[in-house]
Amino acid sequence: MNKYLKNLNRIEFVVTMACSGRCRHCSQGEHKCNDKIDKDLSSDAVRKIAQIYNIQSVMTFGGEPLLCPETVFAIHKTAKEMNIPERQLITNGYFSKDSDRIKLIAEKLSECGVNDILLSVDAFHQETIPLTYVKAFGENVKNTGVRIRVHPAWLVSHSDNNEYNIRTRELLREFSEMGIVASEGNVIFPSGNALEHLSEYFDLNKPVENPYSEDPSDIKAICFSANGDILGSNIYRQDIGEILSSYYPEGR
Ligand code: SF4
Repeated sequence: MNKYLKNLNRIEFVVTMACSGRCRHCSQGEHKCNDKIDKDLSSDAVRKIAQIYNIQSVMTFGGEPLLCPETVFAIHKTAKEMNIPERQLITNGYFSKDSDRIKLIAEKLSECGVNDILLSVDAFHQETIPLTYVKAFGENVKNTGVRIRVHPAWLVSHSDNNEYNIRTRELLREFSEMGIVASEGNVIFPSGNALEHLSEYFDLNKPVENPYSEDPSDIKAICFSANGDILGSNIYRQDIGEILSSYYPEGR
């Protein structure tokens, strides 16, 4: 076991950079590339990593991960086989307008072992994502019994009364009436589109710590990019086992 990864307990996948939304707060920018991670390489990575490290959670997100549902299914099915307890999906809920397909995907997520779905709903997502299909997906997931929560992005803070947060609270009420509660959500970090389109809401003179940054000498979570990049290497050119064992934090 690599000593710099001894506390590794979480694996995340950006399944694809393609997205059905065009959010003005998106930390990933304009989504000009459509990279998607290979289904077999990614599920194989889950198996190999979980054989060595005490992985407690696997999370899939994007872009919009349900534009590549087979990859999401394969990753979580493997996570379930490896007894990884938390199997999480973050989705904007908009991947199809076909009610049969929406129902089918919801049922397959349940079958493959996803047990926590975070649905991105807020003033920003709903500027470009039609609520009808998101609600249909939410309703279908609820019927499967899989835990689902709305996961909003807040501007400035959870309690700030800017126009976006007011609209977000209205949307959360609609989901609450459907029986879908909200998670704490997250506060928008000034990067990507948010920095470009919402800069007046940030004090750019104040240093802001990226909430997703990791101590490179004690990594607890690793995140695969949609192009296969991971820990300074790439799963298309090097086996994940070798990548983990040869990892060395830069600057040490
Ligand atoms: S915030 Fe999420 S849904 Fe919106 S563009 Fe970015 S990845 Fe897509």
